[in-house]
Amino acid sequence: VRKTSSSKPARKKPTAISQRAKNKRQAQQRQKRLLLALGLLFCVGLAAGGYSLHRVYRHLEETQNLAFAEKLAAERAQVEYQAAVAAYEAAKRKAQAAEAQHKARKEQASAHQRPVLAGKPAVDESPAATQAPTPVVHDKPATNAGARARGTQPPRPIDKAAFSRYTPSADKKLIALVIDDIGYQKSEGEATIALPGKVTVAVIPFSPHSKLLAELAFRQGQEVMVHAPMQPKQLKRWGQGLHTGLGEADFKQQLNAMLDETPHHIGLNNHMGSLLTENRQAMNWLMEELPKRGLYFVDSRTSPNSQALAAARAQGIPSVGRDVFLDHNRQREAIRQQFERLVAAAERQGSAVGIGHPYPETLQVLREKMPLLAARGIELVTVSELLNAKRARLTASAADPLPEFKSP
Ligand SMILES: [Zn+2]
Repeated sequence: VRKTSSSKPARKKPTAISQRAKNKRQAQQRQKRLLLALGLLFCVGLAAGGYSLHRVYRHLEETQNLAFAEKLAAERAQVEYQAAVAAYEAAKRKAQAAEAQHKARKEQASAHQRPVLAGKPAVDESPAATQAPTPVVHDKPATNAGARARGTQPPRPIDKAAFSRYTPSADKKLIALVIDDIGYQKSEGEATIALPGKVTVAVIPFSPHSKLLAELAFRQGQEVMVHAPMQPKQLKRWGQGLHTGLGEADFKQQLNAMLDETPHHIGLNNHMGSLLTENRQAMNWLMEELPKRGLYFVDSRTSPNSQALAAARAQGIPSVGRDVFLDHNRQREAIRQQFERLVAAAERQGSAVGIGHPYPETLQVLREKMPLLAARGIELVTVSELLNAKRARLTASAADPLPEFKSP
């Protein structure tokens, strides 16, 4: 019994030790498994995190790439455009050569008769044409149309071949958008031209990309006008563009140089000019030149005392004033508010002109607002279309019986 009793604890001892060792081993194994699981979980978490980060990045990239895609499209258009320009230049050279040949032959033929008069008949005629009807047309409606807010005389039709023949329907409210300061930044200009609808692109003459962007705008079916730099009040030293220091000859020469430099333009508006547009003499010189090229005029209204519209109307030039500046404040929300003001002005007056700049904020607001105009009963038109429609409406309303006017 003793032996057995003594042998029991002896057998018990090693069992206890092995049990403890076994437990320890099991605990170690559990720990190891836990560590492995944690490691695995960590790896999975890392992968998931990485993937979602990648997705977020891709999303951001995609949204930002909208602008890039636009740029790409513009670049593609650019390539096509360059090819077209090359073809155009070749055709132009050919035509010039033919013209020179023709001229030489004509000169030879008329050498023994009498000297051929130099100068284009259109240029010689137009001052006479503007002067002749002015006193007659001016007197009557000026008194008759007293009730009408403005326009003492219906503007002359815009007759340049390049002008759109499109006439907006009579019951539609019209908005024309002018984007100023085009020519310094190529990408800005391209984004403006690519806006989803009609815009009138106001190009600064002699700016780095003026010619190219005017050409591109024209080819993309957008209207081009010259954005003529004029002296403002704020800047004391102002050497460029049109300023009060110029005499008549220099003023007109400078103006014509700007017009010659910018292809495809059919109108003009002022860049700055808060000082110069108050100068009636300078505005008269300006308005003497525009009819020679059949151009219209938009007063950017940088001064409340601008004489430009009065001078334009006195010459019978199709003209209109800016109603709303879209982006004096470049905040998107502010631009949206100004756009709504423009819509309200169009609804109130029948038509309205908004001027903006090719800032990314402005272009973004326009991209979002322009496509929604039609649904609001507003037609987006070019400035020439707006002027033609205004004239047609004015003529139509003049056909209504007006109170008879008797001269005293
Ligand atoms: Zn400007």
